Amino acid sequence: MRITMLGTSAAAPDPDRGGSGILLTVRGRHYLFDCGANTTRSMIKSHINPTEVNTVFLSHLHYDHIVDFPYFLLTTWICDRKVPPVVVGPEGTQDFIDHLFADGAFAKDIEARAQYPRRQNTEILVPDVRQCEPGVVFEDDLVKVSACYVEHIPREISPCFGLRMDTIDGESVSFSGDTAPCDRFIELSKDVDLMIHECTFPESAIEFRKKAQVGTWSHTYPKALGEIAQKANAKRLVATHFGSYDTCNPVVREIMGVHMPKDMIGPALLDEVAADIKETYTGELRLAHDNMRIDI
Ligand SMILES: [Zn+2]
Ligand SMILES: [Zn+2]
Repeated sequence: MRITMLGTSAAAPDPDRGGSGILLTVRGRHYLFDCGANTTRSMIKSHINPTEVNTVFLSHLHYDHIVDFPYFLLTTWICDRKVPPVVVGPEGTQDFIDHLFADGAFAKDIEARAQYPRRQNTEILVPDVRQCEPGVVFEDDLVKVSACYVEHIPREISPCFGLRMDTIDGESVSFSGDTAPCDRFIELSKDVDLMIHECTFPESAIEFRKKAQVGTWSHTYPKALGEIAQKANAKRLVATHFGSYDTCNPVVREIMGVHMPKDMIGPALLDEVAADIKETYTGELRLAHDNMRIDI
């Protein structure tokens, strides 16, 4: 199987990293985990045709994981998508979808385009939404996908999933979504070939973020990440969902100044992150960048 990291940032608008999006390709069939900003364009950049992506999993409903979904579906509709996609996600997914298309935000766009005979196939814009509880959330002849709750948004506001895919070829990949260190995700990820885990902020931002009161406990820091991957016995680890702390862009640096001292921000922070993860994790580590490919 091939994994393509389509987007590797957190919520800040980073010109060098798109929002969360990961494509898993098994025997030529695509499965998308998350659909954050720029996911669709990133597929094109990776020479993947988005009209051929028919199964989408949403880890949670923060916008940095879902905001490209209307663009993905509308743009593949006008590029002659053949079937509506399956969308698997936690509670709230159906509401999110219902507010987008024929009866929602893009109603006028759809009405206008559907005047053309070739665009009267508006059934394409009605995804097959499967709102799930933890457990096995999807199965076909090639893959089985399981989910667990992770620790990110309070569950009564909006539940968040970690995901694991097992393939017919005996390969396995897990994806944390966004989470603080979570034993359920370690359990879900036991012995995976590849763990993809969020790593939103570097260790050296912890104290600053505590004082700034900006969601200090809802993400995983590098030292804890190393322990998580080690405990799960993950063969390989890809750290992703970087809070733009490696940016060289002056505007992004200004924006990220809420989370850490601005003079700390820059590419060298990734070296610190890798060293911190490796204190406890002895497997193979890679730090994600957009359009990175991993073959298992
Ligand atoms: Zn996020
Ligand atoms: Zn989130």
